[in-house]
Amino acid sequence: MSLVTAPSNTPVWVNVSRCKACDICVSMCPAGVLGMIPAPNSTLGSMIEVVVPEACIGCKDCELHCPDFAIFVADRTEFKFAKLSDGAKERSQAVKQNKFRKLGA
Ligand code: SF4
Ligand code: SF4
Repeated sequence: MSLVTAPSNTPVWVNVSRCKACDICVSMCPAGVLGMIPAPNSTLGSMIEVVVPEACIGCKDCELHCPDFAIFVADRTEFKFAKLSDGAKERSQAVKQNKFRKLGA
């Protein structure tokens, strides 16, 4: 299926038609890559966004914990992921303190 085939040069991607805006992936991400954005037309009023893809460390915690199989992570053999930086850890904490919403959204 095309959506589970890795797009080229992309560390993490979402099938938004499956996302139920549960926040779980955002709560799991150690690098602050993900965040929820307002989506007035969706049932829950928000939607997942890959905000800082270049900070993804490829841990797969988002993919492994998504109850709706809506988020996917590239294979380590196909993508060179970032290392977890102090700035990424701080962003992750800030997003969590922002109730999982994308910073500034
Ligand atoms: S864990 Fe899955 S369903 Fe929940 S917000 Fe993330 S992508 Fe959407
Ligand atoms: S693979 Fe890890 S670092 Fe990348 S978005 Fe998912 S939880 Fe965050």
